[in-house]
Amino acid sequence: MIPLVKSYLPPKKVLMKSLEDILYSGYIAQGEAVDQFENDFSKFIGNKYCLSVNSGSSALHIALILCGVKEGDEVISTPITAEPTNTVIAQTGAKIVWGDIDIKTGNLCPKDVESKITKKTKAIMAVAYAGMPIDIKRFKEIEKKYKIPVIEDAAHALGASYKKQKLGNHFNFTIFSFQAIKHLTTIDGGMLFLANKKQYEKAKLIRWFGLDKNKTRLKNNITLQGYKYHMNNINATVGSVQLKYFDKILSAYIDNGKYFDQALKDIDGLKLMEYYKNSEPSYWLYTMKVKNRPRFIKMMESNGVMASPLHKRNDIHSIFKQSKTNLPNVDNFNKEWVHIPCGWWVSKKDRKLITDLIKKGW
Ligand SMILES: *Cc1c(COP(=O)(O)O)cnc(C)c1O
Repeated sequence: MIPLVKSYLPPKKVLMKSLEDILYSGYIAQGEAVDQFENDFSKFIGNKYCLSVNSGSSALHIALILCGVKEGDEVISTPITAEPTNTVIAQTGAKIVWGDIDIKTGNLCPKDVESKITKKTKAIMAVAYAGMPIDIKRFKEIEKKYKIPVIEDAAHALGASYKKQKLGNHFNFTIFSFQAIKHLTTIDGGMLFLANKKQYEKAKLIRWFGLDKNKTRLKNNITLQGYKYHMNNINATVGSVQLKYFDKILSAYIDNGKYFDQALKDIDGLKLMEYYKNSEPSYWLYTMKVKNRPRFIKMMESNGVMASPLHKRNDIHSIFKQSKTNLPNVDNFNKEWVHIPCGWWVSKKDRKLITDLIKKGW
């Protein structure tokens, strides 16, 4: 079966040598290897305010804290995402206000978000779902007009760009995840990008119990609530080695995605996603809408290709029942969306096979 997701790891000889060196170096906690990975990764994205953490969820949590989100506040978010986007909001005690999606892209709809802003709204959580950038132009306007920060959850969209600049440069807060199945994995880990030094320095304290690493423990005085969210030298070493191979891996996702954009045009019962102007997706999953989804999935799977919506709309989880609201576009999208494999493991032969299968009908 061609899977929907798969973890890439660098060649054994190269990775194991680096891992052995760091594992027996006598320093496996957060140290130079973490600094090195942050440096390498910040160069890759093009933003120097780059803070590594132990997961994408931790990066989201720090961003919410920096937005001042507390119990009783509201955060507008999307149900079309992986659960951590929203369980982290719940963790702060804030109420999730669901925004509807833009039916053409599956991403949060700026117009609907704007209609749901209240005095209690402290942040907007927007997900670049499946690797497609959000409507960056409109969300930047909303951020400016209402002075409400947008947290861009780009866990699916490493390497995607807007106006030729990678995600991680457009908002006050952008997060990436290095969990096992994301574009780039450090086994587990995450990154938070910020827009200025002040926020970056505060985020650094929150990352490590509120302690300042530049002073000794004896000289430290904790003034704010911090957490154990730092990355260690082992995960960072995996990350730095991964980055050496990443251009090739990322282009495989993008090349396959662009191939499907062309090859699957104008097929009966199938609608492709649209992308916002000046946006370049990084196609973590290839998303489309199909009629008769159960039949489509069965046909694909009986021919050895995994197909699935992968995520459950988050608003129907019991834990979020107080936030229940009418979301007509989500209802509509939810009946038809499906993903097909599009990552580095999908060969030219595989993608032709996938296209031929779909063209034959289901
Ligand atoms: C994976 C993921 C996260 C969180 O990542 P972890 O590193 O697993 O904590 C957040 N948002 C989205 C959309 C994700 O897919």
